[in-house]
Amino acid sequence: MLVRTSRISTILALTLALALSAHADSRTQLKPGWNLFSPEQDVDMGREVAKQADRELSILNDRQATTYIDALGKQLAAHAPGGEKYPFQFKIVNDKAINAFALPGGFVYINRGAIEAADNEAQIAGVMAHEIGHVVLRHGTNQVSKAYLAQAPLSILGGVLGSNSVGSVLAQLGVGFAANSILLKYSRDAERQADLMGTQTLYDTGYDPKAMVQFFEKIQAESKGRASEFFSDHPNPENRISSVQHEIEKLGGMPPRARSDSPDFHEIKNKLAGMPAPPKAGTKAATNGRPSDNRNGKPDLPSTRYTTYNGRDLQFRYPDNWHQYGQGSAMTLAPDGGIINNGALAYGMMIATFEPHYDRQGQISLEEATDQLVDELRRSNPNMRVMRSHERTRVGRERGLSTELSNDSPAGGRETDWIVTVLRPDGMLYYFVGVAPNREFSSYNRAFEDVIDSVRIK
Ligand SMILES: [Zn+2]
Repeated sequence: MLVRTSRISTILALTLALALSAHADSRTQLKPGWNLFSPEQDVDMGREVAKQADRELSILNDRQATTYIDALGKQLAAHAPGGEKYPFQFKIVNDKAINAFALPGGFVYINRGAIEAADNEAQIAGVMAHEIGHVVLRHGTNQVSKAYLAQAPLSILGGVLGSNSVGSVLAQLGVGFAANSILLKYSRDAERQADLMGTQTLYDTGYDPKAMVQFFEKIQAESKGRASEFFSDHPNPENRISSVQHEIEKLGGMPPRARSDSPDFHEIKNKLAGMPAPPKAGTKAATNGRPSDNRNGKPDLPSTRYTTYNGRDLQFRYPDNWHQYGQGSAMTLAPDGGIINNGALAYGMMIATFEPHYDRQGQISLEEATDQLVDELRRSNPNMRVMRSHERTRVGRERGLSTELSNDSPAGGRETDWIVTVLRPDGMLYYFVGVAPNREFSSYNRAFEDVIDSVRIK
């Protein structure tokens, strides 16, 4: 009995000592920066953009390879502080360029080229730990927050700026999955943080913490003279290597029995190397039957095939080559390329709600409510002019009002903003805005009318 007790207390003491030594390191403390969004909204935003990424990238569908990468990533994410808040998923992109990126909320993409370039498991784990660092430090939404604050006053959506809809924020900022997306353009400071957190995560997962920076050195050496995609997405912070080495010292040097490799890694690496070369960039869109870029960079014209939006309060149909961003009180429908200059809608439609000020008797006419909305829009768009107003129309089965405005187009020149308003049973005003440059408005008018015709207010 006595022996057992003492043995238990010895074990306890050992455990405590280990726990203490684990916390005795003097690692750099890293925390997410200022953010307008909640971690849950990071997930919403990431999921939205990941849908787009899945459509636009060629995702490698090899079950064994994906299972391996996803399991490795989840194991690393479990050791990243705050990682439990995000539903991490890891996919392989069938692209030979050595690159990787992470969307907010834990949607991580690793290029096939990065896996093939890694010498061992710890190196690819290092790249993934770096990406996980961007996620838990919330670098993507931190940048969106800053951009939103800077640009919101210019938005045409004067009446809905207070909305919490993540989709509407994305739409206003034109954030999507694109090479120049602000979600993926990190500062050198963010890179430095992701390096340090990636190194800490490698260490805590039991990998050789030097592996991440070894991989960066290797791809830098191999890409001499050429711009490496990885470093254009993840700009090299100053003294990258020495700051990581310094961090490893702070952690207490190499972890005991540090792992650096596994047979599984080499099996996957060999399998990928044996697969046919990936399709060249851009061919995915072409083979999907999407018209290629034959309109001088302008978005494709509205499709004549329609898809249905069926929301809680509203139902309507819209061209099936438009994407829907946001929902509820603020929604944007736009083709690829319809939202430009970091957030301005140049081609497409917005659907939003506006709360008019009622008079003392609690009365308001559709005309008065519409005038209030137009005043509000003009306040945030000084070059906006009213061309036609107070014209009767129908919104599905309801009485509506048509207003035509002219404004500066973010695509250059002037644009037409066709606004149709309708009062909702709860007293709010719905407004639909069809937007296109003047010279192209006639190509969009029909689609705008079809949307308005199809509206059903529930
Ligand atoms: Zn990075």
